[in-house]
Amino acid sequence: MSTTKHDSHSRTIGDKPLRPESLMMGYGYRPELSEGSIKPPLFLTSTFVFNTAEEGKAFFELAYGLRKKDPGEEMGLIYSRLNNPDLEILEDRLTLWDGAAAAAVFESGMAAISTTLLTFLTPGDVILFSEPVYGGTDYLLKHILPRFGIRPVGVLANGGAAAFEQAVMDSTVRQHVRMIYIETPANPTNALVDIAACAELARRLSQPDRQVVVAVDNTFLGPLWQHPLQHGADIVIYSATKYIGGHSDLIAGVALGSKSFVNQIKGFRTILGTMASPMTGWMLLRSLETLKLRMTSQMKNARYVADFLADHPKIERVHYLGHLSPDSPEHALYRRQCVAPGSMISFELVGGEREAFRFLNALQLFRLAVSLGGTESLAEHPASMTHSDVDPEERIEMGITANMVRLSIGVEHPEDLIADLEQALAAV
Ligand SMILES: *Cc1c(COP(=O)(O)O)cnc(C)c1O
Repeated sequence: MSTTKHDSHSRTIGDKPLRPESLMMGYGYRPELSEGSIKPPLFLTSTFVFNTAEEGKAFFELAYGLRKKDPGEEMGLIYSRLNNPDLEILEDRLTLWDGAAAAAVFESGMAAISTTLLTFLTPGDVILFSEPVYGGTDYLLKHILPRFGIRPVGVLANGGAAAFEQAVMDSTVRQHVRMIYIETPANPTNALVDIAACAELARRLSQPDRQVVVAVDNTFLGPLWQHPLQHGADIVIYSATKYIGGHSDLIAGVALGSKSFVNQIKGFRTILGTMASPMTGWMLLRSLETLKLRMTSQMKNARYVADFLADHPKIERVHYLGHLSPDSPEHALYRRQCVAPGSMISFELVGGEREAFRFLNALQLFRLAVSLGGTESLAEHPASMTHSDVDPEERIEMGITANMVRLSIGVEHPEDLIADLEQALAAV
């Protein structure tokens, strides 16, 4: 009996394809390999026993790409830095939401991002990226990659597709660009970047020996509300710490894409040692079963909260994808690219940091914490917390002001959330 990949379950009934939420409870797992246990056990093991020396040799040949797979041959389990049943089942299930051919899971979102960038970039390359991006990504791009001879070129997300075209007018950028890295909607402003336009630009700039790769950090809307691969992206990245984990009790990341791209990323993951632990993998498998329930409830709650905030006299402006003006270009892009507005809201209070802090300190049900996507609602102050590392002038250009507060909406009762916001605004 083989102890290889448990890709056992069909994705259809007859010829009727099953939806991802129907497959989250069992896909990719064979109970008969684990004493009939209905759920995958936690495989806490560093290494796996080979039946014979010949089998060990064959597994290594595949792992190190020394030969092609024989027909029907599956890669065997070797060592938990290379593969582990919990991670393999998880990776199979994660591909379903995005319609990806393959997935790789990591012990953090930053591990997924850094491993992916190091896989494709070499000295002399340019990486074009949308701004703002997540604080850790911003630091990686501006302070760590340049030490390896990689040049980051930032493009403001609120400048639209024209800003990307403008950036590649510079021949030193155009000739050396190897990757376009985008985060959309942007954190914390919810500015949208046009994925299809970036993919088209990447195809135009690609040379036969040098494909320009488009990677999208889809943490804010995905995996339910935006599917970048369908719009031409090559790689989708998640901080699985957020919606995929969903309970604020783990740190993890994912990269998805074609088999060829993900195999290259996994090769780097093996050597950099950035894979997720079996425990993290097991917890994510449990989280995936309720992903749709949670994200749907959070999305509905966010609409109530955003409507309440938009009407409040102490609030200047609300940044919420469900409130884009119907005749704006952003709205047209939203309709093309997104499935639903998600559950991240930011807003500007009348006043400055003092008013924002008064509000944050008065909250009772919302927790004052960074991070997002968990079952509980959170509030934070981007300018002094998540984005405090960004140059103050650039911060203003990106629209991250002293009076801005960011909310992540959870699964509580929406009227309780609104009651909390109401009393905290009254305290300002
Ligand atoms: C949190 C986050 C990250 C980093 O993920 P970690 O799991 O904290 O390493 C990257 N991108 C976005 C958009 C995030 O919100």
